[in-house]
Amino acid sequence: MAARKTTARRPATKPAAAPACPDCDGKGETTETVRVGARKGRETDDRQSALCLTCFGTGNALEE
Ligand SMILES: [Zn+2]
Repeated sequence: MAARKTTARRPATKPAAAPACPDCDGKGETTETVRVGARKGRETDDRQSALCLTCFGTGNALEE
């Protein structure tokens, strides 16, 4: 009676988890308050999401 070897499926080696972008918490986009006015920048109730420019939408902190 041959002992069956369990073929453990190894997940593909993942690259080291990149640290989450501090600006967007790894979401890849930021929600910013829409401001009006050139100088004071009065905040409105409108919010818009924008691509996080810190990580360019990847959600990972870039380390160079
Ligand atoms: Zn980001």
